[in-house]
Amino acid sequence: MRLYEYEGKGIFKKFGIPIPQGTLVRTGEEARQAAIEIGKEVVVKSQILTGGRGKAGGIRVAKLPEDAGKIAQGILGMELEGYKVNSLLIEEKLNITNELYMGITVDGENGAPVAMVSTEGGVEIEEVVKRNPEKIASELINPLCGIRTYEAINLVRQIGLTERTLTSASRVLCQLYQVFALNDACVAEINPLIITNEGNMVAADSRCEIDDNSLFKYPEYKDLRIQRIENRWEREGAEGGVNYVDLEGNIAVMANGAGLTMSLLDTIKANGGSPACFLDTGGGLSRERMKNGVGLLLRKARADQRIKVVLLMVRMMISPPDAVTEGIMEAIEEVQVKTPVVAVMRGRTPYQKRARELLENSAVILCPGIEEGIREAMKIAKG
Ligand code: GDP
Ligand code: MN
Repeated sequence: MRLYEYEGKGIFKKFGIPIPQGTLVRTGEEARQAAIEIGKEVVVKSQILTGGRGKAGGIRVAKLPEDAGKIAQGILGMELEGYKVNSLLIEEKLNITNELYMGITVDGENGAPVAMVSTEGGVEIEEVVKRNPEKIASELINPLCGIRTYEAINLVRQIGLTERTLTSASRVLCQLYQVFALNDACVAEINPLIITNEGNMVAADSRCEIDDNSLFKYPEYKDLRIQRIENRWEREGAEGGVNYVDLEGNIAVMANGAGLTMSLLDTIKANGGSPACFLDTGGGLSRERMKNGVGLLLRKARADQRIKVVLLMVRMMISPPDAVTEGIMEAIEEVQVKTPVVAVMRGRTPYQKRARELLENSAVILCPGIEEGIREAMKIAKG
């Protein structure tokens, strides 16, 4: 999960990395107040979950508090790089003499963290990799001992820093490694790390990503992860406890179990059909999860003209047929859309029988097996 700049800087501060004086604001008036408090020229920075804000007009300098207020009002609510700007960071403007890059990420090939430094700060590191790879110095870090002071010094020396800047940059690199390791990050990056006129080192930007697999350790982020999923259908899926991935076809597909869903998608594809999504409800179905899954597909079908049919493949080994069918019926009743629903109910024989009985007089088109179900759905999808 990617963090906002201000959240990353909050972590930096805890770990001793110098950050500019700043305040998070949500209105023009708050921006003006914040600028008064800072008492000098400020930078107005949009808080969105992407880089390249500088180029996109999301970062502006304000001489007076009134300017900060006006600029803030102009940017708030704007759409930048596909993200709506809801908050801004008002920060003291720094007097820059040099912009460095410093980052730690996971090197998958070597299975270890890698620390990178460069004198080409302020530019996206991917660009530097392409154009001036010789300007980046990098070093694998042994995750069992962490970064050693001498490793940090050696690395920073390679990009030509000396004396005071060498000492302070290597200190920041060690602190950044702590940020990375102790927050289960997969990326911890400072770009640019600024050297001011006074010779101080300040993190002007932050980019931190927490490994999703570690989010269970961070209750404060865990709830935010779902909120921050961009695709509204994928977000709705996560909220409803099902695994949903948007695709582009005309058959909205659902099954219980990732393997079953994958093979259903493959079989549809192999027969020349085109799935509109991947939806795995997971095993051990409850009425609610079933309803969430089917409801999601029907709402998506209502919003997306491409979708012609919904295909459900349910295998009931431990999932009770009454809960499964109730979930389906409640979703159909709630969403009210004309899209036909084809269902294949399999699993333990008494469960199959019961589920078919319960759906017998409904609008659901029952098919005996997966092949018949796919054939029926494709027939409807073709019109
Ligand atoms: P990004 O473009 O989204 O990565 O946003 P950054 O926070 O990295 O800002 C982009 C650029 O704006 C930086 O490379 C700096 O050149 C400039 N910038 C950011 N903060 C300050 C600041 O406090 N003072 C000055 N003068 N420039 C800044
Ligand atoms: Mn940046």
